[in-house]
Amino acid sequence: VAKREGGGRCKLFVSTMRDDVLEAQRKKMELKSAVELKEFVLYYQPFVDMRDRSIYGVEALIRWNHPTKGLVGPGSFIPLAEETGQILAIGLWALHQACREFAVLQANSSRDLLVSVNVSPRQLFETPFLKILQDVLDDTGMPPSQLQLEITESIFIKDATSIGSLLHDIRALGVKVAFDDFGTGYSSLSYLTRYPIDTLKVDQSFVRAMNLSEGGTNLILFIVALAHEFKMSVTAEGVEEIEHESALLKQGCMHAQGYLYSRPVPLDAMISLLRTGLALSKAPKSMSATAS
Ligand code: C2E
Ligand code: MG
Ligand code: MG
Ligand code: MG
Repeated sequence: VAKREGGGRCKLFVSTMRDDVLEAQRKKMELKSAVELKEFVLYYQPFVDMRDRSIYGVEALIRWNHPTKGLVGPGSFIPLAEETGQILAIGLWALHQACREFAVLQANSSRDLLVSVNVSPRQLFETPFLKILQDVLDDTGMPPSQLQLEITESIFIKDATSIGSLLHDIRALGVKVAFDDFGTGYSSLSYLTRYPIDTLKVDQSFVRAMNLSEGGTNLILFIVALAHEFKMSVTAEGVEEIEHESALLKQGCMHAQGYLYSRPVPLDAMISLLRTGLALSKAPKSMSATAS
């Protein structure tokens, strides 16, 4: 009986596996037409200076405007695109689009805005990235000093010398480099000494793990000290609670993004946010303290 059951389970497993393969193939074809039909759209999430809650920049976050499913988040197609190589076309589109849309964002901001774009390791390794970047800058008139590229530490496990010189060349154009999701994955502190990086984006898991009690010590404090030692700035990701904000400010971290301020929103909504500023129901702790 056990043997028969085992066989049954095995057949079930094989057919599920075939379904998965078919599903992945179907998705790959769908993604191919999405690239051709330009079914993607960029959402924007503000970077906030927590001291005065002003917006100093935006991160461009891709979404897929799926013909039947509606808006699809990057989590359900970027990993496949990474696998198939379609990320090269999609990533180029995102970079180009963010630089194109920069003009209208900047026109609605009273200060020099930073626009931050996520870049996949495959774009850096498998395309003539510097040339592509230069072309996009020329084509769109994007000021290099207001563009930031977000890379993850996964790029450092491969070919350390060429990535170092590529990052150096990118920064020689005036473009900034941010280390995304810092603290997750293959983190090694030696990356910070070896590669030219402008900003550490502290992963939201550190924000979640913050000790919010008075006098509580947090890893964030060490990351801030480390960043300053290497002349880098720090941005906290995933700030959702007012308590996160006050704790981060106390640890010397001034910059953040997160649902507390705004979710990623379409271009038009981002323009409105830039014009009106953030309207928060919850006042910063320091403000309520002085008011009382
Ligand atoms: P990421 O670059 O680390 O972007 C931050 C993610 O955290 C975004 O998810 C954002 O919506 C989410 N987030 C922001 N604030 C909060 C918060 O307060 N709480 C929580 N729980 N989440 C928050 P999203 O938009 O789903 O993007 C997921 C990932 O997809 C990005 O992570 C990035 O790695 C990738 N991605 C997005 N756009 C692109 C792109 O154009 N190219 C490439 N290569 N990857 C992209
Ligand atoms: Mg990012
Ligand atoms: Mg991140
Ligand atoms: Mg992330």
